[in-house]
Amino acid sequence: MKILKRFVPIVALMVLAFYGYRYYPLLPQPILNAVIFLPVLLAVLVVVLSFRFGRSQVFFYTLLVVMTNVVLGMEWADSRLAYALLSAVVPILLVLLSLFPDRGVLTLRAWPSHLALLLATGFVAVAVQLQLSWLLQLLYTNWLPAQYFDWSRQPQSVIYVSVSAVIAMLVVTSARPTSQTSAGLGVLIMLITQLYFGGTDQSLHVFSSVALLMCLYAVLQESWRMAYLDELTELAGRRALRDRLHKIGGKYTISMLDIDHFKKFNDRFGHDTGDAVLRMIAGQLNKVTGGGAAFRYGGEEFTIVFNGKKTADVIPHLNALLEKIASTPFVINRANRRNSDNTIRKIAKDNLDTKQTVQVTISAGVADSQHSAVSGWEILKISDKALYRAKRKGRNCVSE
Ligand code: GH3
Ligand code: MG
Ligand code: MG
Repeated sequence: MKILKRFVPIVALMVLAFYGYRYYPLLPQPILNAVIFLPVLLAVLVVVLSFRFGRSQVFFYTLLVVMTNVVLGMEWADSRLAYALLSAVVPILLVLLSLFPDRGVLTLRAWPSHLALLLATGFVAVAVQLQLSWLLQLLYTNWLPAQYFDWSRQPQSVIYVSVSAVIAMLVVTSARPTSQTSAGLGVLIMLITQLYFGGTDQSLHVFSSVALLMCLYAVLQESWRMAYLDELTELAGRRALRDRLHKIGGKYTISMLDIDHFKKFNDRFGHDTGDAVLRMIAGQLNKVTGGGAAFRYGGEEFTIVFNGKKTADVIPHLNALLEKIASTPFVINRANRRNSDNTIRKIAKDNLDTKQTVQVTISAGVADSQHSAVSGWEILKISDKALYRAKRKGRNCVSE
């Protein structure tokens, strides 16, 4: 579901591309004159933003779109070898660039992406210069009966490479569902289509603009995620909570929640296991019933905002949440195995046979907008005081 949601904007942009391609000749001349600058403008914008936010994958996708655009527009690309080679190398290169993790743009650790781009460019340039006949033969070999491919203006080898690249990107996107990888899949499809139609103005302007719009969307989405989501738990973070409380009004209830004896837990099992517990609890908070929206307030404290609800309405939902967390055993060695810390690994090893499970509980305070306080923050503070009453009452309970 999460993956499908990521694809919606990309698919919408693809529809726009095909629509734009079809109706491009019907556009009035002044708009056509402006459209010429669109890819340049978008490329500059994405390069600046991806640089600023250190999103190297989007940066390299943009570079690839620009390079393909420039080369396709040159006479040089008209030779059979240049056209087929470019059509085969670009999809492979895009998949390769998606496999390298985000390691900055102009950093030493980004060398695999720079090297891949450099080697691919060098290889295509030299191969076309030398008009390598074996390569031409390889690219234009009919591996299957030619009549199956008479719909295509591109050789069979290019079609195989393109289809394999799309499948590879689908796998990458499912394994690592980020805005960058889904943009990568969209850019790949745009580049394959652009290469298929060749270097016409219509294809260059429409498909490259849409590919760059996909990159722009990804970089904006990433910067939104960085600003509003908590990195460890992927819950909405403090800034998102502040925005929510600024806008809140009418009837609502706020609950503050805090993990019980978490310091002891960290001391006993290590900070990395503590982090795993935070992620587990965040996952449960995200599933809270009653229409609550969960936030990580900070540290091991969380906030749930229930819009349109009174305290009495939300207490059953909070009790159900606390019960669910307390009855979900946390397996220590499973969490520890993911850690890099040697001492914690040792604990995991010691526990491997015993499969130690621990019970984690949380306490909650709750307050609603019926209090005389005016702002959301003040209700939050009242809820925080109620939380301390829950702690004093013995923890693992909800207090008003
Ligand atoms: P109480 O039941 O009264 O809430 O006791 P407590 O030990 O949970 O409360 P205290 O505020 O003393 O300790 C909070 C601990 O939460 C201390 C800190 O090490 C831990 N903590 C805060 N943020 C993180 C985090 O991001 N990761 C991990 N692993 N621990 C965290
Ligand atoms: Mg605390
Ligand atoms: Mg605590």
